[in-house]
Amino acid sequence: MTRAWNFSAGPATLPLEVLQQAREELLDWHGIGAGIMEVSHRGKAFSGVIETAEADLRELLSIPENYKVLFLQGGQTLQFAQVPMNLLAGGSADYLVTGAWSQKAYKEAARVGKTRLVSSTEDGGGRFTRLPAIEDLRFDADAAYFHLCTNETIHGVEMHEEYEARLFDAIAAAAPGVPLISDMSSHILSRPLDVRRYGLISAGAQKNIGPSGLTLVIVRDDLLGRAAAGTPTILDYRNQADNDSMLNTPSTFAIYVAGLVFKWLKARGGLAEVAAVNREKAQRLYAAIDGSGGFYRSAVGLACRSIMNVPFNLPRPELEAQFVRESEAAGFIGLKGHKSVGGIRASIYNAVPLEAVEALLHFMDAFRAANA
Ligand code: PMP
Repeated sequence: MTRAWNFSAGPATLPLEVLQQAREELLDWHGIGAGIMEVSHRGKAFSGVIETAEADLRELLSIPENYKVLFLQGGQTLQFAQVPMNLLAGGSADYLVTGAWSQKAYKEAARVGKTRLVSSTEDGGGRFTRLPAIEDLRFDADAAYFHLCTNETIHGVEMHEEYEARLFDAIAAAAPGVPLISDMSSHILSRPLDVRRYGLISAGAQKNIGPSGLTLVIVRDDLLGRAAAGTPTILDYRNQADNDSMLNTPSTFAIYVAGLVFKWLKARGGLAEVAAVNREKAQRLYAAIDGSGGFYRSAVGLACRSIMNVPFNLPRPELEAQFVRESEAAGFIGLKGHKSVGGIRASIYNAVPLEAVEALLHFMDAFRAANA
């Protein structure tokens, strides 16, 4: 068996140990005579799986008691609509746009109700390379919520802990009580997180959590029960919470694999340990880009370069295409940049080992030597 060095943006590589355990248990989970995806979501076996997954996630992220954990479907894209359906309550919401995903969230919410653009860092031609200065932002003290995306997967712009904390403080001072809502799809579980700063956190699973088909929502309980009249039953967070994510059949296999990923993260010492490895991987990759004499270039400002998604360019689009072709021949996958921005992108989620980054650096050096 050969597994490629996988830098896919999502669905993305999963920890080898998790895949091996899932394979081991595929036909017969814990001696029940069937795989976990073949049995009722209401039976004893699966109830144990989802309860353990939730307990481990709560421990990893120190999720306070007054937050519900929901295992939903529809991807993060559905959250772009479900958040305003549940939380606008006839009011207006503030949106901060720092990349393609928060822009999508803003546009979708505008279809549901009233929104206000706090700021967009788009600098023409769909480029996003920075975060706004917090002092320049004006907050609506009456907003139903304030929406952001703390890691922009396509543009590689991330709000690191220090920025996130300052933004939270600024909102708490200027718009007290306005809940922060974040799309954390591409960096949840990459580092410790202060859940209490947020009213709601959501993430599509297919990067740092598990297989696609599962969407994680962590929501403060006072935000339940505010859905607009006419909201479909299944889209009301209150109903999902009251039914422990089992209003209908959940994505059982994806929840099972996510549970294995949570165990894997705990076995690695928890999120502070995982974050240290993630920082090292990212630092080495950015150092190689910055130290390449301009052959490789990152457009993103130093203070907000993503630890998870590293987009970069080469001097010409033809060279980028050649880089992708040759990387694939050399055993790498997923390095082609998103179609909307081109270039190269290395996604270095939790399950991408340091050795994969080292292999990439080696390839990048050789490619530069041959083509600079
Ligand atoms: N938000 C972010 C930050 C993402 O990275 C993605 C997927 N790449 C989405 C939203 C859309 O998620 P989904 O495909 O699960 O709807």
